[in-house]
Amino acid sequence: MPTSQTPYADLNPVFIPGPTNVPDRLRRAMDRQTLDHRAPDFKDVFLPVLADTRHVFGTREGEVILFPATGTAGWEAAITNTLSPGDKVLIARYGMFSHRWIDMCERHGLEVIVLERPWGEGAPADLFAEVLGTDAGHEIKAVLVTHNETATGVVSDIAAVRRAMDSVAHPAMLFVDCVSSLGSMPFHMDEWGVDIAISGSQKGFMLNTGMAVLAVSPKALAAMETAKLPRTFLDFRDMMTANAAGGFPYTPPLQLIFGLRESLDMLFAEGLENVYARHQRLAEGVRRAVDAWGLSLVALSPELESNTVSSIYVPEGFDSNLLVTHAYEAYGVSFGVGLGELNGRAFRIGHLGALTDVVVLSGLATIEMAMADLNYPIELGSGVAAAQQYYRATQGGSLREAA
Ligand SMILES: *Cc1c(COP(=O)(O)O)cnc(C)c1O
Repeated sequence: MPTSQTPYADLNPVFIPGPTNVPDRLRRAMDRQTLDHRAPDFKDVFLPVLADTRHVFGTREGEVILFPATGTAGWEAAITNTLSPGDKVLIARYGMFSHRWIDMCERHGLEVIVLERPWGEGAPADLFAEVLGTDAGHEIKAVLVTHNETATGVVSDIAAVRRAMDSVAHPAMLFVDCVSSLGSMPFHMDEWGVDIAISGSQKGFMLNTGMAVLAVSPKALAAMETAKLPRTFLDFRDMMTANAAGGFPYTPPLQLIFGLRESLDMLFAEGLENVYARHQRLAEGVRRAVDAWGLSLVALSPELESNTVSSIYVPEGFDSNLLVTHAYEAYGVSFGVGLGELNGRAFRIGHLGALTDVVVLSGLATIEMAMADLNYPIELGSGVAAAQQYYRATQGGSLREAA
């Protein structure tokens, strides 16, 4: 019987870059009886969650807003609350997620200036500066950036985008999709001058899908007063008015709010810096494995390599969809398919959220078996061994101290 059909298949972690594995502690935290959101004690749970989530975004002044929705609705909330039909926005297309955000902006009647970039590159700060520098009338109202392109495994330098905008003294707002980076890679909203940061519950927060998690700067809140794009469910104003009174403008996703409380406690107990270091180290092990297999990442240079997802080209003549399907059918383990123009050409290993060395090694071992089954020109065990070497050498812990 293929592993995917045994009663134990759900012991296997997923290696898709979201939704991510939900640790038992978070599942238990979300397994809650209904609490009346109009009861006086709801705000005692809810308001500290809003306040504490700000630390993860790296903001003191930003308002945290939670919608019962997903990251995609977060994009929509960002644009509809701050922009008007016909407003110009600037965005580069370098993967599936930037592509979808562009599509959304166009469908909302924004005038979208798109910089086409090769998939595998990051946000082109210098080109942004060039375009903004020619916009003397300041018609461009916002620059939109996908921090971590989950399709290509590329992380962009948001500080460089901010410097580029400042270098030409352009007043546009900066909106950043950090859905697959927040809580896993450093994010500094205030320091980087981000006006709206958009995330979701099901990636770095390790929770079920169903909540868009945003942080909004005072500048973006001011833009809200004149923005004319229609919004009702996603209107920041209704949300903030209700939040100020300790409530929600409609039924809150109560279990996810309890989950977020617990997730924050876990992230803070580990320490955000340690969380980022863990992701860096686990990702590096994956990259060593990719090297040992003789395969290459979609990310075009080392500083672009994401610590939450690796997108990996399959050798010429192989179909990455077959690989992902086979890994699932034979071994009951999910990996990410290649999205958009990478479909069939690359597969993805998600390595974010609740993971240890052991879990990552099991994923590498599994995809190695699947590749060997399909006659990929790799040596069975080579990637696992490379990751093992790296993890052993960088294991900072107890054994060495005991010695
Ligand atoms: C997952 C993801 C999203 C949002 O997807 P939803 O399914 O709407 O939550 C947006 N951007 C990036 C970069 C993502 O990885």
